[in-house]
Amino acid sequence: MDFEPFIRHISDFPKPGISFKDITPLLNNPKAFSAAAETLFEMVSVGKIDKVVGIDSRGFIFAPILAKKLDAGFVPVRKKGKLPFTTISESFDLEYGVDRLEVHTDAIKRGEKVLVHDDVLATGGTAKAVCNLVEKLGGEVVQCNFLIVLEYLNGPQKLNGYPLTSLLTY
Ligand code: IMP
Repeated sequence: MDFEPFIRHISDFPKPGISFKDITPLLNNPKAFSAAAETLFEMVSVGKIDKVVGIDSRGFIFAPILAKKLDAGFVPVRKKGKLPFTTISESFDLEYGVDRLEVHTDAIKRGEKVLVHDDVLATGGTAKAVCNLVEKLGGEVVQCNFLIVLEYLNGPQKLNGYPLTSLLTY
């Protein structure tokens, strides 16, 4: 299926100069939504996955679906201060300042094989921080998958070494 017609490009959102990729038309269409989940699943080509990590917040849409299809557990990585149990955290650079992502310390066991999922890979700072969190817990990132990769922002270079797949590339 061609998913491109279901992506809305919003100029100057959330800031001037940014072309925001809005996935809500894809979510809104039953056939496109279902096909996107199926295609993401079919792109997983790395054997048994133990955990699927979804990144706060749009990564929470497809990651649990993938986890169910892969017979894996789902792990939410959240922005700072949202998770109730003991966490480890990883800081990453934003355009202005720094943000922090957190994961529960018991979410991933040493040696577990992990798929990292988010909606969009832009500069790669977010996904790289998540890969670092997985590795701090002793997990192995075996693949990162996204609905959209914005190659012109050089995210793939930041994730150098991790197998990477996406439905769409700009
Ligand atoms: P990065 O850290 O620069 O790669 O930004 C990725 C994070 O920002 C992801 O969690 C995305 O959900 C979000 N993001 C960045 N650009 C877009 C976009 O164009 N559409 C939707 N989300 C975006």
